[in-house]
Amino acid sequence: TDHAVDAASEQARRNAFLPDNTERYYARPPVFVRGWRSHLLDADGRAHLDMVNNVAAIGHSHPRLQAAVTRALGRLNTNSRFLYRDLADLSERILETTRGADGTSPYDSVVLVNSGTEAVDLALRMATIATGRRQVVTHAEGYHGWSTAADAITTSAYDNPHALDSRPSWVTVTDVPNAFRGTHRGEGAGAAYAADLNGVLDGLVDAGTAPAAVIMESILGNSGGVVPAAGYSVAMQEAAHRVGALTIADEVQVGYARTGESFWAFQAEGVTPDVVVCAKAMGNGVPLGAVITRKEISDQLGREGTFFSTTGGSPVACAAGLAVLDVLADEGLQANAKAVGDHLAGRVAELAAQHESIAAVHGRGLYRGIELVTDRDSLTPDAALTAAVCEALLARGVIDQATSERQNVLKVKPPLTLTVEEADSYVDALDEVLSRKWF
Ligand code: PMP
Repeated sequence: TDHAVDAASEQARRNAFLPDNTERYYARPPVFVRGWRSHLLDADGRAHLDMVNNVAAIGHSHPRLQAAVTRALGRLNTNSRFLYRDLADLSERILETTRGADGTSPYDSVVLVNSGTEAVDLALRMATIATGRRQVVTHAEGYHGWSTAADAITTSAYDNPHALDSRPSWVTVTDVPNAFRGTHRGEGAGAAYAADLNGVLDGLVDAGTAPAAVIMESILGNSGGVVPAAGYSVAMQEAAHRVGALTIADEVQVGYARTGESFWAFQAEGVTPDVVVCAKAMGNGVPLGAVITRKEISDQLGREGTFFSTTGGSPVACAAGLAVLDVLADEGLQANAKAVGDHLAGRVAELAAQHESIAAVHGRGLYRGIELVTDRDSLTPDAALTAAVCEALLARGVIDQATSERQNVLKVKPPLTLTVEEADSYVDALDEVLSRKWF
């Protein structure tokens, strides 16, 4: 019956009951019926290379994940108030990933939830309760989730032009530290953005609303996969601590081995956030998120009642989480993310010699953004070209999407199983699409 599926009628069925603003991909999206490693198979039996799926970090339909989840479902799945071993096992394994060169971890507390939004929401609650403060500083061009609190600190303006002037009064927005395009550019940009942040923080202290936390994605996903301006992450940590605020790193997209050099993106930035939130890759599609912090911070939650999430960290979710960590380690996927990601970025940089439209390859490992412009002098974002490239890639069996505030960046965040050959086929397809200008 899979093969009888008709894309137009599937879309009509979906549109009938979803709100009009629900995000979906492509003008005429394919209907997918199977996934395998880095590929998705549509209802017509056509394989697509999946370059955007940072949820399926260990690849689609991994047999070890399937076996672990099936086994757990057949044995025990209950709410997280009961005692079962996988919850502590998974939490300990997550803490292991945060160990530094000296073998110790700055963290000793993990709270498991169901999604990135929940993790962000909980992190905000922890920070406000632990500091006894209400104000939160967030960065422009950021996405942090859809709940009322996570949405309040979401500043992305491309689909909500009022994002910056409609934040609630407990939210303060500071500039996004993008040294490629933004208020400050090139060398010295990190220090200039840090000076701006210090000004924002001083203003809050002077107004009697010193902040509870400063939150940022460790790599700026919604700005196009841009690594923060050099020195900014460290300066941000110092600035936050100077005014008694906690730092929260949103690693929902960029954490979990994806950036290659380190398991967490913040580690490559040389900082130790007070609170780390993650989700997506943790369960490889099984709902699972986490807040990682120090117990002295998470314990404070008790001052405002008990915390409990029915299915957050359920036995099935924990079994999935453990299987994902096993596969990441056993298949060397962090090293693969570094090797294949560097290879891919190097080849795209070579392509830039032939294509004026390629202005930059941002990011680290297998979290990249390829920024497309009309010309490199003006750096005018070319959203129309980016959308056309995605449609043309789809016609060639490659799934890719536009991202960034300006919708002119091609996402590169495939399963970490991506091979050098698959990376090459992506770059070759991109080269062909840009060369032919057939859209
Ligand atoms: N933070 C970031 C950086 C994200 O990209 C997302 C999801 N795109 C979230 C938080 C929210 O995660 P979820 O969709 O799992 O609620």
